[in-house]
Amino acid sequence: MIRKVGFIGLGTMGRRMAANLIKAGYELVVHDVVPNAVQDAVALGASAAATVSELGSRSDAVVLMLPNTPDVQSVIYGGEGLSSHPPAQNLIIDMSTISPVAARQIGADLAAEGIAFLDAPVSGGPVGAQEGSLTIMAGGQAHAFEVARPVLAAMGTTITHVGSAGAGQTLKLCNQLICGINIQAICEALALGRAAGVDLQILRQVLMGGSAASWMLDKLGPAMINGEAKAGFRIDLMLKDLKLVQELAFDLSVPLPASALVTTQYLEARAHGEGANGNQALFSVYDRSANQTRTREKSA
Ligand code: NAD
Repeated sequence: MIRKVGFIGLGTMGRRMAANLIKAGYELVVHDVVPNAVQDAVALGASAAATVSELGSRSDAVVLMLPNTPDVQSVIYGGEGLSSHPPAQNLIIDMSTISPVAARQIGADLAAEGIAFLDAPVSGGPVGAQEGSLTIMAGGQAHAFEVARPVLAAMGTTITHVGSAGAGQTLKLCNQLICGINIQAICEALALGRAAGVDLQILRQVLMGGSAASWMLDKLGPAMINGEAKAGFRIDLMLKDLKLVQELAFDLSVPLPASALVTTQYLEARAHGEGANGNQALFSVYDRSANQTRTREKSA
């Protein structure tokens, strides 16, 4: 049975997930490169590990919630990494969104050391992380998944073993592809509605009752309409995920034209300084472009 959970990555998502593990009664050992993030978790009852190796040695199992593939690799490999300092029950659960190819490789490398690895990315955003209602899609060995299930249940409600190593990340990229294209569709509808003089609050409210309703329109629609840029999920992270989608599609020779188009829109948003803003800020690209076009048309 897992009692002591090591948690690395106490950012937007991780700090909320860590709080739920503490609430569920787990003894939590935490590590982050940002000291304030560690202090906040300690104030909730966690204990701090100064290094990754110390965290591994003091835990039964370890959860990772880091930005990107190289961050995950950096805490796994090397003399100070978890592969050299595994937790007592030899289980590492990576809940970050990273490359499925890298996840498979990490799984194979750790299996060679007798350590089980699950790629278990999440959907649901900071609200889902806060409420412990995340959707968790886990790839890896079925036995490891069953051992991890109670830990995952402290952070999510829809928890599914979706296949072998890398399958969790593959599903997550499918999720991100749909989210990205959906946000783009909402941006186009809002830009058109605004240009036509429609009240966008009414537009959103009405569309939420019909066949165009979506999680994105529901949760991000108000921030798009009001021009609130505050990040739940940053443009930078969305671009990271869309790049992973494109890489996988390229490797598998699957043309994904709509995802490619959305990726360029997000690149444009980042180039306009929106990278640290929430992904609803994609609308600013549309708004700007629509305004410029209409101004030029009027003056032509
Ligand atoms: P974040 O940037 O807010 O948090 C990442 C944390 O990891 C930070 O506290 C950072 O200091 C820490 N960190 C980075 N490198 C480290 C290292 N080498 N050692 C220790 N700590 C390190 O990111 P987030 O929004 O919490 O997202 C985390 C992951 O979850 C990403 O892969 C993201 O794509 C995914 N995700 C995010 C959301 C969301 O809405 N924010 C939703 C679903 C999935």
